[in-house]
Amino acid sequence: MSSSAEWIARGDKHVAKNYGRYPLVPVRGEGCRLWDADGKAYLDFLAGVAVNNLGHCHPKIVAAIKEQAEKLIHCSNFYHIPAQIELAEILCEHSFGDRVFFCNSGAEANEAAIKLARKYSREKHGENRFEVITALASFHGRTIGTISATGQEKVRVGFEPVVPGFSYVPFGDIEALQKAVSPRCCAIMLEPLQGEGGVNVPPAGYLQQVRELCDRHDLLLIFDEVQVGCGRTGTLFAYQNEGVEPDIMTLAKALAGGPPIGAMVTREEIAESFGPGTHGSTFGGNPLMAAAANAAMKTLMNDGVLDNCLAMGGYLRSRLEELKDRYDFVTEVRGRGLMLGMEMTVEGGDMVVKALQRGLLINCTVGKVLRFVPPLTVTRSEIDEAIEILDGILAEVG
Ligand SMILES: *Cc1c(COP(=O)(O)O)cnc(C)c1O
Repeated sequence: MSSSAEWIARGDKHVAKNYGRYPLVPVRGEGCRLWDADGKAYLDFLAGVAVNNLGHCHPKIVAAIKEQAEKLIHCSNFYHIPAQIELAEILCEHSFGDRVFFCNSGAEANEAAIKLARKYSREKHGENRFEVITALASFHGRTIGTISATGQEKVRVGFEPVVPGFSYVPFGDIEALQKAVSPRCCAIMLEPLQGEGGVNVPPAGYLQQVRELCDRHDLLLIFDEVQVGCGRTGTLFAYQNEGVEPDIMTLAKALAGGPPIGAMVTREEIAESFGPGTHGSTFGGNPLMAAAANAAMKTLMNDGVLDNCLAMGGYLRSRLEELKDRYDFVTEVRGRGLMLGMEMTVEGGDMVVKALQRGLLINCTVGKVLRFVPPLTVTRSEIDEAIEILDGILAEVG
């Protein structure tokens, strides 16, 4: 068995350098804990960036993968795939949707949404209706199409020319959105609650106003629920918090509780535009990933996980509020369910490193917002443990 230092040295030689990686080599996980190659334990409040919603190696996901792997791992979408059919049924039964396209990641789900919106709009309204309005500080993925959709200059730098047909407005500002609508627009694409952009909750009523704007101009409303879907905010899907239904919803991250899968959910009338041969993905919804996702979705809905998310989300939030009351450089605690951010007037990057050294995994977005997205199965005592570590780190600031 190699040590963490040995793995890091080997990785430095041949693995692409596109990530700024922390010096941590996780080799085993269970629940909210990870262990590194040297046997040290960590409390995981990042959960693979909101992927491991049921904790690491949940027994039901492990069992589903083992069982399916022994039967059939992959077959082509030229054929019918029972596990995929079952997953589509679950997603449609519990959402606004009628049809699901499966892929392997959030970016691919968003690509599918953008392609579908363009095609549907072209068929319904003719040429020259292709523009998608997205929000500043949004994040929609790393493909050429989705960096074009993302309202952050930094993800596009060096990769130009980007895909034309996107415009950006401040998140939460309905007037700016109204002004941005033109005869060229076919859709508005938003995260119902922004993740990478700093855990930004829209003002009350905003999503409803966006829905009405879309209805008025016959625009499709696309919700990117890649991060906030699948229970993260305490409801199965984030749009259900405010009862504002999109026309297209994208999912990925936590859909299978770890294994890679993405999905685009939409209504029948819109789905018509994706006829045979229009779009596809070799691995999309393959038997192994779909079986894992079925187990993850059933566990999420039936094992009290959403209730725990709401209860523990409330508890973590109250503990973070206590820290805010004690440290004047902490300015706001915000979020929903177990997607929480703590904004500070000081940089958070060093705090993330200190937390790692003390056995707590968190991250920092937009420089000054510490983000907490633990497994939805997190316990009170695990939250207490995390707060104690965090308190020690905040106490060392200024
Ligand atoms: C992570 C994320 C994506 C991209 O997902 P990938 O699986 O990395 O392609 C897209 N949208 C949102 C909101 C995300 O958080």
